[in-house]
Amino acid sequence: MTERSYTATIGLEVHVELATKSKMFCGCRNQPHGSEPNAHICPVCLAHPGTLPVPNEEAIASILLFGQAVGAQAATYSEFDRKQYFYPDIPKAYQLSQYAYPFLTGGAIKGVALTRVHLEEDTARSQHDKGDYSLVDFNRAGVPLMELVTEPVIHSATAAGDFARELQLTLRTLGIAHVNMERGEMRVEANISVSQTDTLGTKVEVKNLNSFKSVESAIAYEIERQVALLEQGEGVAQETRGWDEVKQRTYLQRSKETAKDYRYFPDPDIPKMSIQDHMYFSRLSEKTIELPEEKRKKYKDIGLPSNQIETIIQSDFLDTYFAQVVKLAMDVATTPSVLPLAANYLTSDVVWLRGKGTPMHLSAKHFLELISLLERGVITSRVAKDLLPELLESNAAPEVLANQRGLIRSADTNALSVILQQVIVDNESVVAEYRAGKAASLQFLIGQVMKISKGTADPALAREELLKLLS
Ligand SMILES: [Zn+2]
Repeated sequence: MTERSYTATIGLEVHVELATKSKMFCGCRNQPHGSEPNAHICPVCLAHPGTLPVPNEEAIASILLFGQAVGAQAATYSEFDRKQYFYPDIPKAYQLSQYAYPFLTGGAIKGVALTRVHLEEDTARSQHDKGDYSLVDFNRAGVPLMELVTEPVIHSATAAGDFARELQLTLRTLGIAHVNMERGEMRVEANISVSQTDTLGTKVEVKNLNSFKSVESAIAYEIERQVALLEQGEGVAQETRGWDEVKQRTYLQRSKETAKDYRYFPDPDIPKMSIQDHMYFSRLSEKTIELPEEKRKKYKDIGLPSNQIETIIQSDFLDTYFAQVVKLAMDVATTPSVLPLAANYLTSDVVWLRGKGTPMHLSAKHFLELISLLERGVITSRVAKDLLPELLESNAAPEVLANQRGLIRSADTNALSVILQQVIVDNESVVAEYRAGKAASLQFLIGQVMKISKGTADPALAREELLKLLS
């Protein structure tokens, strides 16, 4: 008997704190991290009776911009709803969210279809670890949260992780959220089910996924747990589970609420919104933001390998810097091989030097000049690598500096033959090794030539001449 294997089906819900200046419904500063507790509060976000919420225009503009980027349908009409539930960190006893009329529907990221995206307010933050009492910090209360729900179209833990990474990158590129997962600025929940038929199995919701790794580990664990239950003839219960990072397993939190439990109804204090009339809407299309997929295509056409492309577009510094280099190169019409060479030096040598703490003052213009000198054969790669640390710090003009130091590649064969003679005399034993058949010794001798010439000798010419002298 052949049994059909299990297919996992995953849908994600992601909450993202938007990086607006003020909170979602009041004028308090939107700075939930790194401030004294309860520094950014007012009667509105403390839920005092009689206060009135005013929706944040910048937050709505942000979600509409996101909608454009992912090809979502923007609502023509929208409203906010009250989602009823009580927690000490939500003293209104309801959260302002959206139910029937989200700002966005549809769209896709990395081929994963989106169901809807809406705006809501974050809750305050409770602390239970100080003693036999709890503390509540309201700095986070009322921070604009974008909630995104995908269709259940993801079928593996890795694909879920890839989606979350691309979402983070897209939000960063748009500049509408900081999306640091370790700070809770992006929080993922996964709905997971397994089935051997075309009918979906019972879904389990896993919360508290605060890193890409925990997204992937929790989903992989849950798929295995559900398959094991079904194999033992037991059913999967519809429930909400948490993720235990230490034990690397999910655990039961509570049975799942349904929309009915929340008693959603339209908030009577906030006016209904006609989006098309909104002033931001017309401004949005004027913005030109290059999305990750567009950058990938452009850099692939330039001839960059995909691992380098990812290194560049995932780093704020490299992304901005390389974009400047590309723009300059286009302006001065450099040869096609300059940009791959520039990407190479940027993602290896420059990244390494910055990692060691070298300050980065080298302008994109001078960096491109250095790479062009190298590409045209005016300097050798040895000289380029030697000059780089100094250039990073001083932003000197590379060609001027190379000239001052006498580091321009030399085609002077007389000078070269003097150096070659000296290297052969100084390294008798290595020469003997080479003659005895140790081919690697040649590389050492070329290295000596480069050293004595301060990197100005042409390595190919040095090799050729050495071979002649040693044969
Ligand atoms: Zn406030």
